[in-house]
Amino acid sequence: MSESTVRIGLVLPDVMGTYGDGGNALILRQRLRMRGYDAEVVEITLSDPVPETLDVYTLGGAEDSAQRLATRHLTTYPGLQRAAERGAPVLAICAAIQVLGHWYETSSGERVDGVSMLDATTSPQATRSIGEVVTTPLIDGLTAPLSGFENHRGGTTLGPDAKPVGRVTRGVGNGVDDGLEGVTQGSVIGTYMHGPVLARNPELADLLLKRAIGVDELAPLDLPEVDLLRRERLRVR
Ligand code: GLN
Repeated sequence: MSESTVRIGLVLPDVMGTYGDGGNALILRQRLRMRGYDAEVVEITLSDPVPETLDVYTLGGAEDSAQRLATRHLTTYPGLQRAAERGAPVLAICAAIQVLGHWYETSSGERVDGVSMLDATTSPQATRSIGEVVTTPLIDGLTAPLSGFENHRGGTTLGPDAKPVGRVTRGVGNGVDDGLEGVTQGSVIGTYMHGPVLARNPELADLLLKRAIGVDELAPLDLPEVDLLRRERLRVR
């Protein structure tokens, strides 16, 4: 790995990575390599302290018990919090939104303190939200509809310092009847979309990469299979 290698942190794939969310790190790496950048995925497991020096971080979803282990680890080793404070982009999927918030309640009603990187709290809803979700993005730099697959019981309420990622046009989203999906604050982007979300939303992948390497533009990639996947997914009922 050279000095200029872009280092992508895959945070706690041993406990957070349902529905192939680890693929988000691979997609970031591949989109960099196709443009001639050196890029590596650094896996950070429960046996490792969380390094604060990586260029971009991704965290996946998890079941309630696994997300508790992740919460404890991120609290003990606050490298992710320090990286976000200096502006390193962080992508948080599903349970990771909940862990990065102030607190979440598990399905059994137990309240767990999160790491407070996001001004958000999560409580279980009456029913689990499962299915395709599509949104209109509300983040600067994103124009194309976002699509993913949601499967969560938690409903997330945003505080004043957090903003939504998109407005729901299909599916449930954050699950608190406000028509909103995801949460962003500082350099963190959180979404309930599995998929992996970056396979389905290349514009979001490139937004994270531009922020990670500090450029305004990246060379376009001509990937007809990605366009086809998007067309299929946006049609799905
Ligand atoms: N356990 C959390 C919930 O049900 C997150 C689920 C997930 O990450 N898929 O809300």
